[in-house]
Amino acid sequence: MLCVSIGRTRHKMMIAEIQEAARRGARFMELRLDFLAKAPDFQRLLGHKPCPLVATVRRQEDGGRWSRSEQERLTLLRLCIASGYFDWVDLETDIADKIPRFGKVKRIVSYHNPREFPKDLEALLQRMGQQDADVLKIAVRAEHPADNLRVLSLIAKSPKPLVAICLGDFGIASRILAGKFGAPFTYCAFNKERGIAPGILSMEEMQKIYAYDRIGKHTRVFAVVGDPIEHSLSPLVHNAAFQALGLDCVYIPLRVPKGELARTLQAFEQIPIEGYSVTLPHKEAAAQLAQEKDELTQLTGSTNTLLRLSDGRFRAVNTDAPAALQVLGEKLESLPGRPQLQNLHTLVLGAGGVARALVFALIRAGAQVTVANRTLARAETLARESGCRFVEWNGRYQTRFDVLINCTSVGMFPQVDETPMHHSALQPGQIVFDTVYNPETTLLIREARERGCQVITGVEMFVRQAALQFRLFTGKEPSLELIRKTVRRALSPVQLREEEELPDEDSE
Ligand code: NAP
Repeated sequence: MLCVSIGRTRHKMMIAEIQEAARRGARFMELRLDFLAKAPDFQRLLGHKPCPLVATVRRQEDGGRWSRSEQERLTLLRLCIASGYFDWVDLETDIADKIPRFGKVKRIVSYHNPREFPKDLEALLQRMGQQDADVLKIAVRAEHPADNLRVLSLIAKSPKPLVAICLGDFGIASRILAGKFGAPFTYCAFNKERGIAPGILSMEEMQKIYAYDRIGKHTRVFAVVGDPIEHSLSPLVHNAAFQALGLDCVYIPLRVPKGELARTLQAFEQIPIEGYSVTLPHKEAAAQLAQEKDELTQLTGSTNTLLRLSDGRFRAVNTDAPAALQVLGEKLESLPGRPQLQNLHTLVLGAGGVARALVFALIRAGAQVTVANRTLARAETLARESGCRFVEWNGRYQTRFDVLINCTSVGMFPQVDETPMHHSALQPGQIVFDTVYNPETTLLIREARERGCQVITGVEMFVRQAALQFRLFTGKEPSLELIRKTVRRALSPVQLREEEELPDEDSE
């Protein structure tokens, strides 16, 4: 179950969020009374309470906003318990024994440490287990992705039902996977921009992207690893496809710092995570640690997919290049005379990870390829290894081509006014393929269309590579249309939200 946490400075806004959260399906809420600028007016706030409520008054040292005395805080907590408005109260472990149980109000005994990951959580949990609690809660700052497993594994050892959370952006897995490990509920924010808790996800994310209430003991888990990871579209795409097919699977984002992939994978073996999408900066490390590798991974030393085999070893597969070849092949098929790739000159811009995979795959498919890269040495190395031709960066303007593939990051958001190829170099009938997908219509794509070229966008490639990964993960065929729609919706500058946010009338 989700507990929707609501914290606003004004009564009016808190009431509006309570009602709106209920309208969106919240069945359990926490009111962060420490956010209120004035003393709470229970009658006004909760006259029409829509579901069971938790009263929380969090101190600053625990990550809250309470600014008055501790004595006043304890008085307010006692008032909350006696008021008859609250079904639950959150009492920190150090004060829980000072406030006795009263009536039917249930007790969450909690420990918060927003600064660090304490060493002896097990001992702390055992001590908290001696206290008068219906539910225990531990929320500590994750310092490494592996910390998620350290808190989640506490749930099974806990003497009482436990909500165990890692705070911060390393801790998102602990929030999404709480139910799988048996936590009675987990927290999300009605409005996560309010600073309710570091790393907390919104109610909308938990409900719509992760379908939290459907996650259980047997839910299979997949992930994307990278750093940064917060803008990855992969969780949106894979979870939408799982849900459309009714699969008991969830896909989570894992922020993993450079150099920490092996330790992270090792820690998540406890679940285990059955497949990973791999993005920067881990593509080479993933290829290295995989015991089995497809041919492209062997050739390029880099991969974007790791599949866990039943014996715990990993197989690395590259889905970027097959996806690119697939969309290019479909484009050629659709053209008059169905030109053959082998008869066309292809100019690839870039010599990074994507360019390398594509060049090797193109050469294997019999294409004639020339590479131009800003750093000449990288183009030279790629040419030597793959057998393609290379020119220096400016040489792209003297190179004849039928197909142009941009594998540089030029034109990617926020540098949307840049193009890797001046429009004067584009001729009608040429195929221009931009692997950049954010935005979908890059300047290169727009100008290529204007010049009468055939275009292929990075979104088409992204859709195919996600579909290939999905097939490898699940053995099932996802809807390309659903993936495309999900990607376009996420990339649209004005996100077409089904739910309007509440007006921001707060003074925070
Ligand atoms: P990468 O390994 O970092 O390579 C980046 C490439 O861009 C290098 O060749 C680099 O040249 C070049 N570059 C960067 N800034 C440049 C500039 N100002 N002028 C000229 N060249 C410049 O990155 P990657 O993993 O290959 O990704 C490249 C692009 O592929 C990304 O932008 C991403 O949007 C796209 N991509 C698309 C998909 C998809 O499914 N559609 C999937 C993955 C990636 P130097 O060698 O000189 O640094």
